[in-house]
Amino acid sequence: MSLTLTVDGDRWRTHLRAVAAAHPGLVPVVKGNGYGFGLHRLARRAAWLGVDTIAVGTYEELPEVATRFDGDLLVLTPWRPFGAALELEPALARRVVHTVGRTEDLAGLLDRDPDARFVLERLTSMRRHGFSAPGLREAADLLRARGFSEGDRRLRGVALHLPLTRGEHLPEVHRLLDNVVAAGLGTPTVWVSHLTDAELVSLATSHADFGFRPRIGTALWLGDRGALRVTATVLDVHRLARGDVYGYRARHAARGGHLLVVSGGTAHGIGLESPTGEGSLRSRAGTVARGGLDAVGVVRSPFTVDGKPRLFAEPPHMQASMLLLPEGAAVPAVGDEVDVRVRFTATQFDRVVVT
Ligand SMILES: *Cc1c(COP(=O)(O)O)cnc(C)c1O
Repeated sequence: MSLTLTVDGDRWRTHLRAVAAAHPGLVPVVKGNGYGFGLHRLARRAAWLGVDTIAVGTYEELPEVATRFDGDLLVLTPWRPFGAALELEPALARRVVHTVGRTEDLAGLLDRDPDARFVLERLTSMRRHGFSAPGLREAADLLRARGFSEGDRRLRGVALHLPLTRGEHLPEVHRLLDNVVAAGLGTPTVWVSHLTDAELVSLATSHADFGFRPRIGTALWLGDRGALRVTATVLDVHRLARGDVYGYRARHAARGGHLLVVSGGTAHGIGLESPTGEGSLRSRAGTVARGGLDAVGVVRSPFTVDGKPRLFAEPPHMQASMLLLPEGAAVPAVGDEVDVRVRFTATQFDRVVVT
């Protein structure tokens, strides 16, 4: 009855261990929908991996992971003098490592919590958050003015969030690390995202005085897709003759076949993407022009039935989707499972089964 993620447990755990072994200092990223697995499950898995720190996306995510993982909790959203960052329970606050990207926030955080632990984020070509090169020097000055000396345990390092351009980061990272050295921060730790293994190896050699902490989500949790299977359940099957009426909008079937009702709808994140590309728009217009029909059946669904992706009969509903199965295709039975292609980071599964 569900949209289900089935995980081949042995294979998944083998992959997780291999990633951890290949990335000393690994910081698993446990954020959002928990990459489809759920934050609670990934927090426990990270504890099992034996890492000392995990990264969450937001302050709001902390409570769900904090009871399942008892190490340090890096928050990737930068600290600001408003919102959930100011509402941390003291016991939780002691385990948090804040991300700070503006001088005024560094002052504000230390004013509120002189014992706060933090990383200073350096703005990268992503231009999401972080200090400029002069900003980083200003932050270093502020810390010295507040009595921080080299090796102060509150300053946990510098963070670099790099774009997804695989294998092209090194010139930028070298430049940013020069800024870190020039700022005289005296911290040896650099938290990085989206560097390839080869880039990490190269940096470990070229900057042996730094320790790099790779923050990895997708390549860790979703890195072995063969360990993961997503299925929906066939909930109903109706014979359709040409001209039959169906659906919320009383559409008419353009041809005979079967109408399948499968689990998984908008509430799960199914089919939220609109049909892409000019081609599909044009073909849809063509369908309308040719038969005076509405745009029935031109949007491909992520559900695979009898070996082929099938068309939506109409836009997905909250908890279910209606599909068109043409004449000649093998008709599944109620209760059968069909495969579904999903974006894991945008899907809410009803069930996650780890075998
Ligand atoms: C989400 C995020 C990551 C992890 O990204 P993946 O592509 O899932 O590995 C790393 N660093 C930062 C700052 C992030 O926001």
